Amino acid sequence: MKKWIALLLVSAMVLSVAACGSTPGESSKGEDAPPASDTKSFTTAVEGKLTMATNATFPPYEYLEGNEITGIDAEIAAAIAEKLGLELQIDDMEFDSITEAIKSGKADIGLAGMTVTPDRQEEVDFTVSYATGVQVVIVTQDSAIASVDDLFAEGASHVVGVQRNTTGDIYTTDDIEKEGLGTIDRYGKGAEAVQALKTGKVDCVVIDNEPAKAFVAEVEGLKILETEYVTEDYAAAMSKDNKALYDAVNAALEELIADGTVKGIVDKYITAE
Ligand code: GLN
Repeated sequence: MKKWIALLLVSAMVLSVAACGSTPGESSKGEDAPPASDTKSFTTAVEGKLTMATNATFPPYEYLEGNEITGIDAEIAAAIAEKLGLELQIDDMEFDSITEAIKSGKADIGLAGMTVTPDRQEEVDFTVSYATGVQVVIVTQDSAIASVDDLFAEGASHVVGVQRNTTGDIYTTDDIEKEGLGTIDRYGKGAEAVQALKTGKVDCVVIDNEPAKAFVAEVEGLKILETEYVTEDYAAAMSKDNKALYDAVNAALEELIADGTVKGIVDKYITAE
């Protein structure tokens, strides 16, 4: 599948970006290198705050618990903010508004289980990747769709539900709609696509594996196909025009990955199979 090649290339780019991020001298590994918070050469959208743009409908990465946005991304952002001596502020918005919020400088960091893609890399810079996502397919328990390949089979004509402008939308638009193998129904929220599956409006939903698990646990009669569609890297999106903040955030995130903080946060929300 051609997607794999593109994503491998993106992974390689993320790694090389990560490598460039730690230039000699400002590496956190050196004994006398100052911690990121000692070198506040950066500016943020709101002084003293790290403003995170997200879409809190994506459990367990970001979701509402009462009025509070919680989840893996919220905790990682809080840890980054703490390292930089900033207060975390989270702005909830539609997923497809996040890139614009970053580009316009209204938000400092887009953390939303966001996949690194070549098109998005033209709009924003991505930090080092902090998690892996997998696009999976949710079907009803009695579905005739038995594997991902059934969606691309000759003569296939399924209605596929996705969250608008997510990678699930992008891949299925290319692989299914443009190939004449079905139509794509785009929803504002993943949960709405799942409801459409439940009520028979769509034949399946393509979405990231972790929210898929959360939705299937909530809605009866659904299952996730065992075959995976695409594996991808999640990273934080940042403006191309605020290099100092990018370097500080990226260095903080690298430290949090290296010292096991990120893994601890992920493990708290995702139990290993
Ligand atoms: N990982 C997917 C993407 O980046 C979905 C993210 C989301 O819905 N929050 O497009």
